[in-house]
Amino acid sequence: MNSTVIFSDMTTQAEKNLLDKTREVLKKAGVTGIVEENDLVAIKLHFGEEGNLAFVPPPLVRVVVEMVKEEGGKPFLTDANTLYVGKRRNAVDHIETALKNGFGYETVGAPLIIADGLKGADYVNVPVNGKHFETVKISSAVHNADAVIAVSHVKGHDLFGFGGALKNLGMGCGSPAGKQAMHSDLKPEVDPDKCTACGTCLSRCPVGAIERVEKNKAFIEADLCIGCGECVAFCPVQAIPINWETDEATIQEKTAEYAWGVVKPKKEKSAFINYVMNVAPDCDCAPWNDLAIVPDLGILGSTDPVAIDQASLDLVNRAPVMANSVLGDKKDIADKFRAVNNRNSSYIIEHGQDLGMGHKQYTLKSFWLNQSKKHS
Ligand code: SF4
Ligand code: SF4
Repeated sequence: MNSTVIFSDMTTQAEKNLLDKTREVLKKAGVTGIVEENDLVAIKLHFGEEGNLAFVPPPLVRVVVEMVKEEGGKPFLTDANTLYVGKRRNAVDHIETALKNGFGYETVGAPLIIADGLKGADYVNVPVNGKHFETVKISSAVHNADAVIAVSHVKGHDLFGFGGALKNLGMGCGSPAGKQAMHSDLKPEVDPDKCTACGTCLSRCPVGAIERVEKNKAFIEADLCIGCGECVAFCPVQAIPINWETDEATIQEKTAEYAWGVVKPKKEKSAFINYVMNVAPDCDCAPWNDLAIVPDLGILGSTDPVAIDQASLDLVNRAPVMANSVLGDKKDIADKFRAVNNRNSSYIIEHGQDLGMGHKQYTLKSFWLNQSKKHS
């Protein structure tokens, strides 16, 4: 079966600028058709780490907000807290970073709600019966919303090869403990030199795997630990190091299962828009963004997250390399994100399809192409 993906390129002219094109993509793809009167609509995006400027610009997000309101919905912009220590690890830092990056109400027209609460403790266990997880920890505000629209920036990622809608939904809607579970199966260990014996991890552990040892330092009983990641996420002094060790297939499949945890309860109430612009080699979590590896390519919309990611990946792989980017003067690269990050990007798409989230086969329906040529 083929899914439909709507596409327009980044060329513009009067009354067909990127705001107009966003509106048209959303309309043609049926994205706002998922919204009903009084629906609380989670617009899931990445506000960008401080120092990164490659994220989807706030004025484009405002178009999504406006269209949700026109349907009678109540939109809010949302993302979940990070696992790593940066400028988005708790709701206060996260909102301040979002505001610094331009996501204030005056620009976007909607409130910001950090989906998993002040410290990342607000999540719902959603059954997915996947290959890796029986249940996944989905941030409450996303799970409890009536509908979700993922606004995703397509760019590189050092573990996934690339990030699009599935990564935005999966890793992006998992609580910090869920993010640890996606990143590694390895059992955590306490660094006694850093542990301040505060006891937070003991109260968070769901299976009583942590005990106090000499000088009240925490100690994890590996035989009891189920690797849920709660202690890693909640230690206030990072005395339980984040485990990043994983292989590319496992983390991508796990992330697809988290994305399924978002979409499964809202199969008819979720939709997706991908921006293939500022295609930096690294994720928007990086506090920088290097030069794009390909030119700005376009805006895609769909109600199928698997198809929209496959279409975005295909567009990047068909595009010419930017000469001054990290890909330099390499030409004819079949898989650009693998060339940048040495990762196979296909596992998340394949597993997304296996789970029933959508189809890799798609029909690309294009409109308003080559607009800038009309100037000549
Ligand atoms: S939460 Fe961290 S600092 Fe507190 S007892 Fe556990 S390991 Fe030690
Ligand atoms: S990972 Fe989970 S189960 Fe293991 S010690 Fe930490 S909180 Fe307990």
